[in-house]
Formats: sequence, structure tokens, C-alpha cells
Amino acid sequence: MPSYMSAIDAPEAPIQIIGLPYDSTTSYRSGSRFGPEAVRSASYCLENYDPILDLDLEDISFGDAGDVEIPPGDPKRALSVITSALDEKVRPDSLVLGLGGEHLLTLPLVQRVLKNYEEKDLWFIHLDAHTDLRPGYLGEPYSHASIVWLVSKEIGFSKIRQLGIRSGTKPEWELMRLHNTLTGIDDKSVASLVDWIGDDPVYLSVDLDVMDASLFPGTGAPEPGGVSFAELQRILNQFIGVNIVGADVMELAPSLDPSGASSVVAAKVVRTMLFLMASGMTGGEE
Ligand code: MN
Ligand code: MN
Repeated sequence: MPSYMSAIDAPEAPIQIIGLPYDSTTSYRSGSRFGPEAVRSASYCLENYDPILDLDLEDISFGDAGDVEIPPGDPKRALSVITSALDEKVRPDSLVLGLGGEHLLTLPLVQRVLKNYEEKDLWFIHLDAHTDLRPGYLGEPYSHASIVWLVSKEIGFSKIRQLGIRSGTKPEWELMRLHNTLTGIDDKSVASLVDWIGDDPVYLSVDLDVMDASLFPGTGAPEPGGVSFAELQRILNQFIGVNIVGADVMELAPSLDPSGASSVVAAKVVRTMLFLMASGMTGGEE
């Protein structure tokens, strides 16, 4: 089923996929720059219809704006290239779903959303194995390991929530405790979070390594002890109808899983994200 590829070049569609192939700050195993391409080709393996949500990709309007051409190396330069490319490739009122690429690239996507929403109103919901709260990593302030820290500089900590986290330094965990950002990755915790969010705008960022390393080895820093795909899907599905104003699916490094299964898992997460974004626009499907 050509579920995502068929949507390429539909600039008028309100939801736009954009590929961000860059992995230069990856500290362990690189390869996420091949993530967007792998998601697109793995999407052929999936049906357009999601029987749990009872939604079909053919009934929602989305496009694929292709990949941003990002120069490898210098992360600051990469970020500024992405910022300009977003202005060129997608309309100001489109909802963008970013495909990584490393997690650092969430920053320009969040900054783009903040052109339309107030810092104090935006929720940042972060699914990840890692805290990503380092104020820089090995001397580099713009690092995949710092993305939540960088987002906190934009919106503060009060509306950041972190789910699935199981790895980080002691100072990072202390920061999470100080600001109460850590939220349970279980049905009840997520239900009350979604309740609390109400109609507020949400940026939803999924680092795929939130899933267990055994089912998702195709990523730069796999971490044991994570959720299954079924659990992740149940958690994500609770965001149906939420006002998602930007989102991303990051850190697929396809060559690290020669079976190809990780790419299919990632493509299915992307499919779910498209349904969530579409449902938030129409005011919910619940
Ligand atoms: Mn991670
Ligand atoms: Mn991350």
C-alpha cells in the first residue's frame, strides 16, 4: 500500500510530512539520517486503514514536502538551514510532522510552532528512553542529548511532560524531579494528562527509542526496559482529538536493524501520528 509516498507534493494539504536527514551530533551509533527515506519505503508494507482508531489515511488530507537538504557537521548551521527550509517548503498555517533524523532537529519545529502560539500555552509532550536534559554534551550546546533542555529555554518547564524515561544522569533526573516533568507511561497517567491539557496546543515529540531495545534495535542509543509497540500505540491513541499543532517521530536509524522491522514499526507510529493530527483539527473523533 503506497500509504505515504502517494501523498508527496500536495502543498495545499493542511498536514505536511517533512524529512530531516541529519545525525551529526549522535554520540553512539549514527545512521538516523537515513530514517525519513526508510519510513517512506516501509510505509508500503502498511494498510491505510487503522482498525483500532477506525480511521483511514485516504480520508485525511496530508502531503509530503520531501526532505530538507541539511549540510552534515555544524549543528547550529543545520538548525538554521532547517528553519529557512520550513519557511520555503510548508505554508505558515500547515501542521508539520517531522521525520528524523536525530532528536536535536525537534528544536526548529518547536520554534516554528511558537510563531503561532504563546510560549506559556504550548505543551511539549516528550516520549523517549532518555531525559535529553543535558545543558550541552561534550562541549556542544546543540546536541540530541539536550533537546528537552533547549525546548525548556523556549517555553519553560511548566508544560513539559516526559513519558517513558529510564535513562539519564543524576543531575538530569534531579531536574525532572524539580520540575515534575516525569509522567507515567500508563493508561491512567496519560488519561489525566490529556484531561489536563484540554484544548491547549500540544507539540508531540516521539523519540522511537522510548520502545524497548528488543523490538526497536534500529536506533542510535537503544535502551532496555521500554514499552512494547502495543503499549505505545495505546498511549498515543489517547491523544486522539487533542489539539496537536506540531509533532515529530525521531531517531530511526534503519541500517542498525538489518531485519527492517524497526523501519516498519516507525512507519506505523508515523501513521498513528497522522491520524492524531487530523483528529485534533476536526475537533476529535472520540
Ligand atoms: Mn532517546
Ligand atoms: Mn531523544
